[in-house]
Amino acid sequence: MPNVHKINEVFEESNLTDLKNIDWQAVDWQRELKNNVNSIDSLKNYVELTSDEEKVLRDVVDKHPMNIPRYYLSLIDPSDPNDPIKKLAFPSEDELVVAGAMGETTKDPYGDDKHNKGNGILHKYPYSALVVATDYCSMYCRHCFRKAIVGLPNDKTVENFQRAAEYIREHKEITNVIISGGDPLLIGTKRIIKMLESLIDIDHINYVRIGTRTPVVYPMRFFDDKLMEYLKEFNKKKTLYLPTHFNHVNEISEDARKAILRIREAGITVNNQAVLLKGVNDTVEDIENLMNGLVKIGVNPYYLYQCMPVSRVRHHFQVPLKQGIDIVDKAKERLDGYAKRFKFIMGHDIGKIEIVGRIDDKLILKHIHSRPEEPEMASKMKIMKLDDNAGWLDDMEEIEL
Ligand code: SF4
Repeated sequence: MPNVHKINEVFEESNLTDLKNIDWQAVDWQRELKNNVNSIDSLKNYVELTSDEEKVLRDVVDKHPMNIPRYYLSLIDPSDPNDPIKKLAFPSEDELVVAGAMGETTKDPYGDDKHNKGNGILHKYPYSALVVATDYCSMYCRHCFRKAIVGLPNDKTVENFQRAAEYIREHKEITNVIISGGDPLLIGTKRIIKMLESLIDIDHINYVRIGTRTPVVYPMRFFDDKLMEYLKEFNKKKTLYLPTHFNHVNEISEDARKAILRIREAGITVNNQAVLLKGVNDTVEDIENLMNGLVKIGVNPYYLYQCMPVSRVRHHFQVPLKQGIDIVDKAKERLDGYAKRFKFIMGHDIGKIEIVGRIDDKLILKHIHSRPEEPEMASKMKIMKLDDNAGWLDDMEEIEL
């Protein structure tokens, strides 16, 4: 590991102020992507870096590319040294640590590779098929659990969505499809329409989800009238959901609120899947403000994920489970019924597991989805021995009640 030191960016405040004055709802979403900050040279227009800092960050972005929309940069508060937006967007020297004190890491924590059926299809649970439609995102989030895929050339991108649709058509057990990535809404409108059209007449699909972070990092995407009109029409024939990913109340800007409003005007339900992240949203107030902010703009809090043991992520972003469940419990004491609907979840290779609560050093878990080969595990409870450092299922021993 290189000699890592803390980087102290100094903001070029006037350039940030210029960004705050842009009317983001009026910009052309495709043209604006070209203005993304995706190199250390372009980052230097907004922050001053010493030559040592610059060298470290160049090393980081060689391993995991950087891509920050100028809109998202405009949300940064330069006077806050712990600004959560910056932590989610800026490369950090901590990413040079592959594993570290928090324990083992992997490139594939969710076991996606085992369920890859080709053509970008991941078929893990019988009833759901996930299609990786692109490896591109308008922002490469530093905590992404698909860090091994996004922004890098790979063969998982769907060249031909029609072939993925054929797989879904043949597998009648599939009741819902998740179009994911990368961020599928960064695909051009015409191609999105073609993709969705290939699913519309498959009767055994009850609904389609498009997993996207654009409402958070790129809300201008929703001011494309052609896209919105089509999504509205599609939703009349087959129910459409938009799972999104707000992690902090500072992401809920007026532009994000307007984008969500446009989605809701199309009759589409928006559910939020946040991740609990050290230094970003790991206080009771952060979770309380986030969930209250979401219900205020009509987004349903759905999941709060435990940060997965992903290489170059876990070391600096994962919150120990004991601390995490206490934050969630305390926040839920203060939240109303709609704001506290979310489940605290581990998306594990063996299935989705709800972190229900703790009694002293016993952590209570409940499977909510299990692998197809172990259907009897779905809805099973598990009690694990909890210590102060455990961050993942594999760090704990199963015990009797
Ligand atoms: S938008 Fe989603 S898939 Fe893309 S980098 Fe961020 S978290 Fe990962």
